[in-house]
Amino acid sequence: TSSVVVTTDPTTGRELARYDAMNDASIDHVLDEVAVAARAWGRTPLTERRAALDSVADRLLAERESVAALITAEMGKPLREARAEVDKSVTTARWYARHADSLLTPTPVDVGPDATAWVTHEPIGPVLAVMPWNFPLWQVMRFALPAILAGNGILLKHSPDVTGSALGFEALLERAGLPRHVFRTFVVSERDVARVTDAVVADDRVAGVTLTGSNRAGASVGAAAGRAAKPSVLELGGSDAFVVLADADAERAAEVAVRARFTNAGQSCVCAKRFVVAAEVAEHFTEAFVARVRALRVGDPTDDHTDLGPLARPDLRDVLQRQVDASVAAGAELLAGGHPIDGPGNFYAPTVLAATAPGMAVFDEETFGPVAAVAVARDDAHAAELAAATTFGLGLSVWSGSRERALDLAREVTTGAVFVNAMVASDPRLPFGGTRRSGHGRELAAPGLHAFMNQRTFWAV
Ligand code: NDP
Repeated sequence: TSSVVVTTDPTTGRELARYDAMNDASIDHVLDEVAVAARAWGRTPLTERRAALDSVADRLLAERESVAALITAEMGKPLREARAEVDKSVTTARWYARHADSLLTPTPVDVGPDATAWVTHEPIGPVLAVMPWNFPLWQVMRFALPAILAGNGILLKHSPDVTGSALGFEALLERAGLPRHVFRTFVVSERDVARVTDAVVADDRVAGVTLTGSNRAGASVGAAAGRAAKPSVLELGGSDAFVVLADADAERAAEVAVRARFTNAGQSCVCAKRFVVAAEVAEHFTEAFVARVRALRVGDPTDDHTDLGPLARPDLRDVLQRQVDASVAAGAELLAGGHPIDGPGNFYAPTVLAATAPGMAVFDEETFGPVAAVAVARDDAHAAELAAATTFGLGLSVWSGSRERALDLAREVTTGAVFVNAMVASDPRLPFGGTRRSGHGRELAAPGLHAFMNQRTFWAV
């Protein structure tokens, strides 16, 4: 039986398009095509794979406006932020192209006079990428660009909410000159996703799997990878702390805190979600923060003056409201927002909750929307304790007049990244990924390229 995937504009609630979901026979056919294409692509010279990254970058720039418009129509982020996704993907393509040779040159190893040894990085074949809707282009490119350079094939299972984007990117890569079938999209309905993903991960034509999304989805895909004994990279949720110590520039911290929390309407794994503020600067920080939050412009994402668009889906807004209500009932103090915005679209008022603590939903769970939880710390040790009071471990931002003091605190909290006097963000030059419930494995930089390659040992006498 076939089913249909429907996409909706979250700004208006209107239907955008319908797509036929693939049945098992067409999925099998795509697997064959990608397996054949990946075998040939893995044998093309590095110079060609490197050149492909530059043509992808050129195409993305040439089609920047239409790509950004599609992203905004399907998931509602401000156009300005959609364009930034394109730009970041271009920067990443150029970075991998520029460093292709040094990242993939065989490494000689001295094993004494009797033999010669070296290590190469070789492609492993098609890798399944299960991706979410929050950065429809960037999440895909963060994985696909190094995979293209590696000489692998890419099977994309994107979120159904952004099916138009997924198919659009596939066509764009072909226009960029990437050989046909090196990158293919599966259109799968939500009903079939777990079953189809399990089968694809287990299939002998597939070499590994990467997933960005919730813990629930990550656990399911990680289990499938485990059963099939295949490598996996899991980029899951986060509940990053943004710690402001007593000697920090509270004004500057508040200014950056607004961006760190409300970018993409708060729908990012590395958004700062919990603001742990030293008692000495709590009043100053909170006042400056709330004033800036109240000034945020919520509305039409195609308007260049808009700061926040709608949330991507109505159910995401419902979850957020439940988290806010439960936290207020548990004693959190509402300083701004706390409610949906009337009218069509999934808009939610930028929200600040003070007096939050472990045991409250906004502190213990990931809040995937425009809701900031503020907690006051007695001293640095208490701040570290609050920052670490989470099962997640993605990023940490610490603000202090002293780098040493900030790093002392960072040592008490386990995360995949630490940013001092700056907000957490991914960067193609640096590894990106989580610890604990935020997942395992790294994307970007050298680890992101080598994660899905065979580090092959050679010994010759
Ligand atoms: P999901 O994690 O459910 O979706 C992410 C991707 O995983 C989608 O392509 C989804 O497909 C797929 N997926 C879901 N379940 C399975 C499964 N069992 N096997 C294989 N693939 C699966 O996120 P939601 O959109 O439902 O958002 C829920 C919450 O997840 C958010 O509130 C947020 O907390 C977190 N999240 C984190 C993201 C991050 O960047 N780390 C990104 C998005 C969400 P399908 O939609 O068809 O189920």
